[in-house]
Amino acid sequence: MSDAVTREFLLAFWKIHILHHAEEQGIYGHWMLEELHRHGYRLSPGTLYPVLARMARRGWIRATEPKGSRAARVYRITPAGADVLKRLRASLAELQHEVARPGTARVRRTTSRRRLTAPRGGH
Ligand SMILES: [Zn+2]
Repeated sequence: MSDAVTREFLLAFWKIHILHHAEEQGIYGHWMLEELHRHGYRLSPGTLYPVLARMARRGWIRATEPKGSRAARVYRITPAGADVLKRLRASLAELQHEVARPGTARVRRTTSRRRLTAPRGGH
């Protein structure tokens, strides 16, 4: 987790992702690592586990007691975490609407009048 982009932005993305899956089905560390790898994020256990612990300390997720000595601890979202996720989803939708598809936004002052009246169609 050395570079500035990771610290300033990606870490937040990961946490949102963790809350999402902790709400859906509950997660354990190794599964979450693989899930984040699947999404293209190459983070290590040494990065992920402290994040999970911090989120648990803040009361957003809670670890269940492992069923046996070799079982993984499963994290589930708490009601407080669900509130956080709800807020983040609204922010995310708002941001996504404007940022994720540049060029399809509403009026842009720099585009010509002709382009404005003939938007590119489809998705
Ligand atoms: Zn995912």
